[in-house]
Amino acid sequence: MQTHDLAQHVKWLKGAFPLAHRVYVREVPRAEILDKSDGTCTWTGKSFVILVASGQALATKIDVLNHEWAHARVKHVPDAKDEPAHNPLWSAEYGRIAAAYEAYKGNP
Ligand SMILES: [Zn+2]
Repeated sequence: MQTHDLAQHVKWLKGAFPLAHRVYVREVPRAEILDKSDGTCTWTGKSFVILVASGQALATKIDVLNHEWAHARVKHVPDAKDEPAHNPLWSAEYGRIAAAYEAYKGNP
């Protein structure tokens, strides 16, 4: 089974699930994240900013990153007020990312 760190996972995501816009991924203390959640994805108008809470296991941080990356991929960030952030479009993309990562790890 292959393993990689969070920076390597960002590279893997950029290759396997590219974004049309620039993305900044930062690991920060949970206290700096809105609602103190595991992670967030925001759209600045020009780029995506993904924050992942530090102090979580690497496997959890990778899953959080997959979750936030799926928001960026479908350009549907959680602050949209008109519909749930975790809609079927997001869900399908998150599923694709999770399945591809399992295959990458040697667990197809
Ligand atoms: Zn979300």
